[in-house]
Amino acid sequence: MHDTPSETRRVRLSCEEADILLDNLAAHYRLFAPVRLPGRGRFSDQDAIRYAEVHTVHEIEHARRSHFSPKEILFPVSQTLFYLMDDALQEPQDDPRDMLVFLRACDIHGIARLDDIFLNNGPEPEPYYARRRARIKLALLECRHSLDEHCFCVAMGTNRTDAYAMAVRCDEGQLLVEVRDDDLRPALPASAAPADFTPEFPTADPQPVVVPDADRLQSAIRDHGFFAHPMWADYAKRCIACGRCNTHCMTCSCFTAYDIAYTEQPNAGERRRVWASCHIDRFTDMAGGHAFRDENGSRMRFKTMHKIHDFYQRFGRHMCVGCGRCDASCPEYISFATCISAISRVLEER
Ligand code: SF4
Ligand code: SF4
Repeated sequence: MHDTPSETRRVRLSCEEADILLDNLAAHYRLFAPVRLPGRGRFSDQDAIRYAEVHTVHEIEHARRSHFSPKEILFPVSQTLFYLMDDALQEPQDDPRDMLVFLRACDIHGIARLDDIFLNNGPEPEPYYARRRARIKLALLECRHSLDEHCFCVAMGTNRTDAYAMAVRCDEGQLLVEVRDDDLRPALPASAAPADFTPEFPTADPQPVVVPDADRLQSAIRDHGFFAHPMWADYAKRCIACGRCNTHCMTCSCFTAYDIAYTEQPNAGERRRVWASCHIDRFTDMAGGHAFRDENGSRMRFKTMHKIHDFYQRFGRHMCVGCGRCDASCPEYISFATCISAISRVLEER
């Protein structure tokens, strides 16, 4: 019997049935999820968790946040935009298959922020992002509680979402699945047992984070010289401008472009775009040698204002989604969450 359109199905799957589901999905979609990469972590004997193509449920890391965010699926670290050969310009062929990406609720909100930047920030959508985005469906990896001490999605209002095609919960070796999307529902194995499953979401952050009121922050910037507040001097001393917070961030979306001339082939080359970071040296260099933010505290201030003020003024929601990757990755233990709360305290003291 066929499901009627728009009928949500909720089922419980054994491990074997869950792999059948993934097999069936893989006939139409490339599946991406966080996976554990043994020994590839920041320190010796540590694992890295990063997004990769998966084929079995066993490969998916359910318990931990990925170190790098899933934005690299849509917006790769390095991407060739086109090749040049004499007078001809050729775009590389992208894999044409659709993708299904398993994401936490905060990262689903993060995709919406990337959509704002790449699709809604001008008269035309950015074509390289738009092409991939059109081929992606989102699957929710449920977090019933915060994944670790760095999460602050509740403060940022990104702990809940209903913007997903399907949702999964790993439950004692079985998989609880909610399928909402008509295209995905036929992939459920015929043997799937009905289940009473609706995703749950975290309701409290491990550490309270106070998000500054946007209007008060704007007035502090415009009328009270907040950019010169002494709180930024602390970051000038501690930040080493490594850029890890930017590269791990779900919503940082700056890039730079390089033209590469092939030495072995005259009149040929390619243009690549590569992630950039507002924390690292030379990000603000201008022709003539002027740099707008030479000092590391001002770079921290710039990033922070973009995440919780400038983006809000433009799109009506904060850029930061509280995923906590910046705090988890900073080698100097600089906490962006603490920085946000410190700004709120400064505003209260005025
Ligand atoms: S600023 Fe930090 S917490 Fe906010 S989205 Fe970026 S990495 Fe996540
Ligand atoms: S990760 Fe930490 S030290 Fe590195 S640029 Fe970001 S705030 Fe500075």
